[in-house]
Amino acid sequence: MTIDRRTFLGAAGLTAAIPVLSGLPAARADQAPAEEPRRAAKNLVFMVADGMSFGTLSLGDMVLQLRDGSRAHWVGLMNRAGTRRGLVETRSADGFVTDSAAASTAWGIGELVDNGRVGMTPDGRFPTPILIHAKQAGKAGGLVTTTRVTHATPAGFSCNVPTNRDDESRIAAQMLERRIDLMVGGGARFFPDSLLAKHPDVEVIRTRSQFDAFAGGAVGTGPLLGLFAGSHVPFEVDRRTLSLPVPSLAEMSRAALARLERAGGDAGFVLQIEGGRVDHAGHYNDAAGLIDDMIAFDAAVGAVIEWAANRDDTLVIVTADHATANPGLTEYGARGVKGLMKTLKFRHSFEWMEGKLASKFPLANPEPPEFGDGDMAHATGIDINPADLRDIIEEATGIALSKGETELLARWKRGEAVDGFALAGARYGPLGAVMANHTFVAFLSPNHTSDPVEITAFGPGSELIAPWQQINRVHAALVKALDLPPAKPVA
Ligand SMILES: [Zn+2]
Repeated sequence: MTIDRRTFLGAAGLTAAIPVLSGLPAARADQAPAEEPRRAAKNLVFMVADGMSFGTLSLGDMVLQLRDGSRAHWVGLMNRAGTRRGLVETRSADGFVTDSAAASTAWGIGELVDNGRVGMTPDGRFPTPILIHAKQAGKAGGLVTTTRVTHATPAGFSCNVPTNRDDESRIAAQMLERRIDLMVGGGARFFPDSLLAKHPDVEVIRTRSQFDAFAGGAVGTGPLLGLFAGSHVPFEVDRRTLSLPVPSLAEMSRAALARLERAGGDAGFVLQIEGGRVDHAGHYNDAAGLIDDMIAFDAAVGAVIEWAANRDDTLVIVTADHATANPGLTEYGARGVKGLMKTLKFRHSFEWMEGKLASKFPLANPEPPEFGDGDMAHATGIDINPADLRDIIEEATGIALSKGETELLARWKRGEAVDGFALAGARYGPLGAVMANHTFVAFLSPNHTSDPVEITAFGPGSELIAPWQQINRVHAALVKALDLPPAKPVA
């Protein structure tokens, strides 16, 4: 039997190879979903584990088994009757490895864009992002994240800038101008008083008690802006150990759902929820940070599933924007289990460790790292006492390094090349690799990878998710599921 290639590609939601100047096959943005929705969804909850590969989900799920005797909510959801699952190719317009800005923009506008772009196509157009499109139809729109609210993933769903993702002051101003109904996360530094003064009706909350009042149903009239960190919200492992007064992602998600349900009324709402620091821990090759933030994201998945139980008006999507660093448990049998058990004693992230080091040792080079920033540079040129380095690592992880491991890391901190893979050696690869001698949780690189990612969906419109699709195709499914009228151009 022969299969017509065009029919086969169309049915599978794949992209035909069309050469373009970049040398990569062009993406088609207009692929029709395979099915018609049975009924429109009033609400959309779009959950993103930023930078989550299957290995990351699996690490969180295994630790939940060891620690709590339970499984990840996301894994349970995959096995539930009525759940739709697919895989997503996560390329951008200019390559096979995307960044979060291009990935979120692909969901937002339905087209592939170059890495770093927010709502701007390679030919300079600014299509209306889905969150604003939904607001045009009368729905409320919200963004919840553990990164700065102005970071790439929330921005790609709601903004259009002619510059790039780093233009977070412009993104902050645009989010307020577009009257997004709810923005909760970090990023206070991009909302100075001078900006907030232009939007006096925006209710700003910054403290735990203000958050508790908001979560308890205190009703405001205008848009709500929750800012719980100057930059990103702390890693979950640090938040837990230091008992920081910052709400968890699950707490923020529950409060956002209640607020948006009221704000959207009969028209409904669109809410994006991002576990953004899963990606950052992947960049750092930091198993401690990674596993706890993965589990925190999964708790938010559990909160959304609970909220959506017995409802039939909400499309829930749980996915990732790309994989980062492809971590995995890589030792057999009881030895591997024993290694993973060591992660249960983790107390702090690599970010915390780097902060400790910087406070102890003057940095010869380069600029001091910016703590709380997912793009924190590995500070080199530190002539460190190996015993101090070992003590800091033991305090953070409960793992006592050998003399040889400690000396290797001291050389790495001095700026020597200690990894055969230069890309990994230039950042936190050597620290992650040495920790893997004990936990057997190893990482591929400090970067994103081209792996396809999971997409799980339930509720009306979930049938529009294909078994395999390019990332921008998800947009068409969302628009169709919500039955949105054509978008008006954004100013
Ligand atoms: Zn990343």
